[in-house]
Amino acid sequence: MIPRRPLVAGNWKMNGLKASLAELAAIRDAVAAGHAGDAEIVVCPPATLIAAAAELCAGSRIAIGGQWCHAQSSGAHTGDISAAMLKDAGAIFVIVGHSERRIEHAETDGLVRGQAEAALGAGLTAIVCIGETAAERREGRTLAVLERQVGGSVPTAAGPGSIVIAYEPVWAIGTGLTPTPADVADAHAFIRRHLDALMPGEAGAVRILYGGSVKPANAAELLAAADVDGALVGGASLTCKDFMGIAGVYRSADASRGDRSP
Ligand code: PEP
Repeated sequence: MIPRRPLVAGNWKMNGLKASLAELAAIRDAVAAGHAGDAEIVVCPPATLIAAAAELCAGSRIAIGGQWCHAQSSGAHTGDISAAMLKDAGAIFVIVGHSERRIEHAETDGLVRGQAEAALGAGLTAIVCIGETAAERREGRTLAVLERQVGGSVPTAAGPGSIVIAYEPVWAIGTGLTPTPADVADAHAFIRRHLDALMPGEAGAVRILYGGSVKPANAAELLAAADVDGALVGGASLTCKDFMGIAGVYRSADASRGDRSP
């Protein structure tokens, strides 16, 4: 099996003022103190805080990400933000295809793929979100939806170094509901098989995160599921205590391996 470094990413969504950077500083210091083991840690604050967050975390183990980018590199798109702007502000990652964007802004797979391509073009790593709604799950269409979203949203030029997939069942986001670890493992294995068609021989190195109501109380069992390479965390990423309660799963894993090498 190709080793994949765990990644825990926090999505602050439309939350956070300058005062919230104190929480980010606490996260930075906790990670520096070894609380997340060797996991890669990414925080995606709102766009207004990216430059300050990047400055605060410069030289640390925290990478900063955006929450969205336009598919075009520049132009007459009032209120939008390009991948190059995120990069210029200090971002390394960007989330695309989050279900809140797909639903609230009617973003299609094709649009998401364009955004991911723009991210790659600007030198960002794209975290591409996919996942079924409650109705799609009820109707037994989960795997068909995931297949469509992988095929439609992931750029053909993507590889393990430029793309991360986040499997986020829409019904689990912000609800406190989660799939069973076995369901998550099945979904991730299915996603990886379909990634293989896009990047033959490389899919085994792509990180697939689980997202949807990950909390300190359920992180250990969800992150231990097969093929789960980390988490995309919404609400619980807003405080250092909860975020480290999740990323701390990897400290324990390192401690039990007795191995802290990257
Ligand atoms: C998310 O929105 O990406 C998410 C996973 O949210 P939450 O953790 O709050 O369910």
